[in-house]
Amino acid sequence: MKAFIEKNKCASDSRICKPLKECPQKAISWVEDDDEPLGSRMEIDENLCDGCGICVDLCCGHCIEIK
Ligand code: SF4
Ligand code: SF4
Repeated sequence: MKAFIEKNKCASDSRICKPLKECPQKAISWVEDDDEPLGSRMEIDENLCDGCGICVDLCCGHCIEIK
């Protein structure tokens, strides 16, 4: 089981993103990407994510799912 972000719901704001700060595995990162409407995206490294689910409750946009 891994965490996935539904990008079109995500604010992609590293200043307010609790999952980014609090993921125990440091699996979440903020990536600048000119191809995204917001100019950036949150990315989850599936090799680091252990599926703990902590980020699901911390996400203010309810955009992270474990599957
Ligand atoms: S808290 Fe959720 S919606 Fe907000 S930036 Fe982080 S992953 Fe995206
Ligand atoms: S499920 Fe756990 S390890 Fe994976 S991204 Fe979320 S907080 Fe990090």
